[in-house]
Amino acid sequence: MSIIKADKLTFEYIQRDEDDNVSGINVAVDNVTFNIEPGQFVAVLGHNGSGKSTLAKHMNALLKPTEGKMYVNGMDTTDNDKETDIRRTAGMVFQNPDNQIIGVVVEEDVAFGPENLGVPKKEIIKRVEESLKAVGMYEFKDYSPNKLSGGQKQRVAIAGTLAMRPKCIVLDEPTAMLDPSGRKEVIEALHKLNKEDNITIILITHFMVETIDADKIFVMDNGKIVMEGTPKEIFSQVDKLKEYSLDVPQVTQLAYELRKEGIPLPNGILRIDELVKELCRLS
Ligand code: ADP
Ligand code: MG
Repeated sequence: MSIIKADKLTFEYIQRDEDDNVSGINVAVDNVTFNIEPGQFVAVLGHNGSGKSTLAKHMNALLKPTEGKMYVNGMDTTDNDKETDIRRTAGMVFQNPDNQIIGVVVEEDVAFGPENLGVPKKEIIKRVEESLKAVGMYEFKDYSPNKLSGGQKQRVAIAGTLAMRPKCIVLDEPTAMLDPSGRKEVIEALHKLNKEDNITIILITHFMVETIDADKIFVMDNGKIVMEGTPKEIFSQVDKLKEYSLDVPQVTQLAYELRKEGIPLPNGILRIDELVKELCRLS
């Protein structure tokens, strides 16, 4: 069974004027259908306003479809009785770590989620330890969050979600406010959780390079999923991505420019070592 399944999902934001009359309708997600299987690492790309955040909020039942369906581990998000179960199954991590961290010390912050779920104290202690270790933040357990770097705070936020034992974590531009080393820390932690604990990851990002190790990439434009494929398949289509106002990873761009100059390189080169190998083959 799919862990996340969208079936002809449409979401409209309704704008109202001061007299409460409908003044506009904004179709943010437009008739989207897809499946995400358990254990997949899926990246979602798309320029600003393409509908990524709106779609992500459906995976956690923060928004409900205007039309169509969203299922989380088989649960229909419009089923109010399932809301807690859905939120437990699919954890969310947002852009700004400062808005997500509420504890005075790191371990207290990570304990907050399971405490709210009524998990027994002994079990909470165990989960906090496991979650902090999983993101490489255990030695900071007694720290005040405001002493941490952005990347460390974001990893604490991920640990807070992990402590609720989700099957899936949805991250909406979790690295947008981080420096390059913080971004790397967070992405590495996500791949480790995905590989070692088989947690499904749905990563929304603006940074192309963060998507090259994903199993699958969705590209959104104007509320629709307009491209879907492996990183190699997606980044082989440089011109199409540019139509959707998206870049490609730097190495892919370089290979693309070299090919335009007549150097016979294959499409969809993602990593520097691949490019080096291909160039060596030519000489
Ligand atoms: P993304 O995350 O890809 O930038 P969003 O899901 O935030 O895209 O937005 C999709 C569309 O919905 C945009 O046109 C945006 O202006 C609109 N939108 C987002 N949030 C609201 C809101 N609260 N009210 C009205 N329109 C909104
Ligand atoms: Mg967004």
